[in-house]
Amino acid sequence: MASENQNGDRRHQEVGHKSLLQSDALYQYILETSVYPREPEAMKELREITAKHPWNLMTTSADEGQFLNMLLKLINAKNTMEIGVYTGYSLLATALALPDDGKILAMDINRENYEIGLPVIQKAGVAHKIDFHEGPALPVLDQMIEDEKNHGSFDFVFVDADKDNYINYHKRLLELVRVGGVIAYDNTLWSGSVVAPPDAPMRKYIRYYRDFVLELNKALAADPRIEICQLPVGDGVTLCRRIK
Ligand code: SAM
Ligand code: CA
Repeated sequence: MASENQNGDRRHQEVGHKSLLQSDALYQYILETSVYPREPEAMKELREITAKHPWNLMTTSADEGQFLNMLLKLINAKNTMEIGVYTGYSLLATALALPDDGKILAMDINRENYEIGLPVIQKAGVAHKIDFHEGPALPVLDQMIEDEKNHGSFDFVFVDADKDNYINYHKRLLELVRVGGVIAYDNTLWSGSVVAPPDAPMRKYIRYYRDFVLELNKALAADPRIEICQLPVGDGVTLCRRIK
């Protein structure tokens, strides 16, 4: 964070800097070489619309969108879930990766933002795969668990919502995802704050959720029911493969 780059400036001083890579130039290189040239037109359009929205910091980055899209194809995911939709960039990356009869249960407390992206998703011809549920996700998971037929029914879940609930989601999702299925927790490096000294300059919301992210990372590493892989993509994403 406080390291100087080749140009001698200290742009990484404040915790909350977007790129976790050595330099912004390296991140730009990835985007311009491998991501933007292959980004589907609809995702580009949604990314540009979202960039104009005041909360655009929340969106999934284009490189992570590409990663999710590839991952879903690699595991042949069909029945999926997303907790935390915002304008739908990761949702669209998911919808484009699934087969025509694939499904995404998408949940967010805010429908308005989802509706910003919805016309683009519709135009891309993938809206029929999405079942959007407005409201907090936790009660929906509890309700689903009550019905045995939902147990082990999901191939993939992307969790990108209220970080203070990730542990609660994890308890429930382990019942809902099939053995061999994947739960991906987003923002597990929390803008690099997971290694910041307590007195480091940090935005308020970064500081608030930091302890929850630290607890989650410890809990996932100690959980014998999953295999894990924490990747420095986007703001850090931890893949959990259910093994029992
Ligand atoms: N995946 C999104 C994307 O690619 O743009 C970004 C999601 S954004 C980081 C987090 C979202 O979680 C917000 O849209 C917020 O409304 C939603 N959220 C917060 N608390 C929630 C809850 N309890 N249940 C469902 N969604 C919630
Ligand atoms: Ca995120």
